[in-house]
Amino acid sequence: MRLSYWERSEIERRRDVLIIGAGLVGMSAAIELKKMIPSASITVIDKQVIGCAASTRNAGFACFGSVSEILADIEVYGEQTTIDLVNRRRSGIESIRDRYSPANIRYEHSGGYEIFNNEEEFALYQPQVEQINKLLGSDVFDIHKTPSPIHSYSSCIYNKYEGQLNTGRLYDALIKEGRALDIELIKGLEVLEIDLATGSLSCKVEDVNIDMKADKIIVATNSLTSHLLPQLDVKAVRNQVIVTQELSGHGLKGCFHQDKGYIYFRDIGNRVLIGGARHLHKEEETSIFGDNQKNQAYLLNHLRKCVLPYIKEELMIDQSWSGILSGGANRLPIVEKLSDKVTVAARLSGMGVAIGMDVGIEAATLAVL
Ligand SMILES: Cc1cc2nc3c(=O)[nH]c(=O)nc-3n(C[C@H](O)[C@H](O)[C@H](O)COP(=O)(O)OP(=O)(O)OC[C@H]3O[C@@H](n4cnc5c(N)ncnc54)[C@H](O)[C@@H]3O)c2cc1C
Repeated sequence: MRLSYWERSEIERRRDVLIIGAGLVGMSAAIELKKMIPSASITVIDKQVIGCAASTRNAGFACFGSVSEILADIEVYGEQTTIDLVNRRRSGIESIRDRYSPANIRYEHSGGYEIFNNEEEFALYQPQVEQINKLLGSDVFDIHKTPSPIHSYSSCIYNKYEGQLNTGRLYDALIKEGRALDIELIKGLEVLEIDLATGSLSCKVEDVNIDMKADKIIVATNSLTSHLLPQLDVKAVRNQVIVTQELSGHGLKGCFHQDKGYIYFRDIGNRVLIGGARHLHKEEETSIFGDNQKNQAYLLNHLRKCVLPYIKEELMIDQSWSGILSGGANRLPIVEKLSDKVTVAARLSGMGVAIGMDVGIEAATLAVL
């Protein structure tokens, strides 16, 4: 393919700000910058033609951490860091609801349940509930009967502040807000290299090379950041999701976490979504989309045995996809200025919906300092 003179001069024109990555972080950063500097020309680029690596492929849990996850994080990252992050996620969910309205993003305040495989596992975490509530400064968690139809240990830990939303609706709300602010969005364009000193980008679409320049660059590429900035500690982790066919009365309502959050499931109307199990499959440490059949079979089997054991219908995978999230030595996102021109905002892990907007706002503020 060859670009026309007109096409090249338009796409290569200098912008005030270029943002790489049109996920929750990149779009939120763009919106915040445009509010701060209405005259700024802002363009967001994403290599994916449809959607994002994670922001349009997640499970839609508006969650901030189960007791077992919080305890595991305290052990690795310390009490204060972990509690600050959990509180940040919690207030992030409130900000999303306030900004985009629960009805618009189909937010349902359904609560979250951490369920356990057996009494021994429950006994490990049940005594810690009071302590975690104390650290969080409110009665977030309490002991609950495991809701039917789930077949697991009879008691679970309930979080009354969690909910679920429609991931597609939330993303659509962000895109609409960006459009209304005259933020340009270019899809299908991959950035290959960033020059930290000059703020120029080498990009590619099909076999065409394109050079772009801006006064400020924000890199919001989350799990794929290591391709562009290998010096940063960001690892890509693939996550599998499956959704059943429509079922007549599955009886499941809410967000469910199991095995320290590695397995999660929820209702989507008449269907059930289940995802995760990456801890069981080493090959999920990849940035390449794709279905892992072993993982799909595991999740379907888990649905049959633990989640919907009494359902008469044959459970089937109606839809299946993977998304890529971030890992690394630290759970905290990286928001850092790498040069006068370039700011990075990346490494959002499994609860990135809750903090995505906040991280984008932080990056926008840092970029213009
Ligand atoms: C399967 C799955 C389930 C999840 N479930 C939940 C959940 O229920 N609740 C929750 O809170 N969180 C969940 N998450 C995590 C959450 O979705 C992410 O943390 C969050 O969306 C990250 O947003 P982001 O904008 O940083 O990244 P992304 O949405 O990944 O956006 C980054 C974008 O950068 C683009 N990009 C990367 N490199 C380049 C390049 N070189 N050139 C151009 N573009 C580039 C990518 O295409 C991508 O679209 C889940 C994630 C996955 C994968």
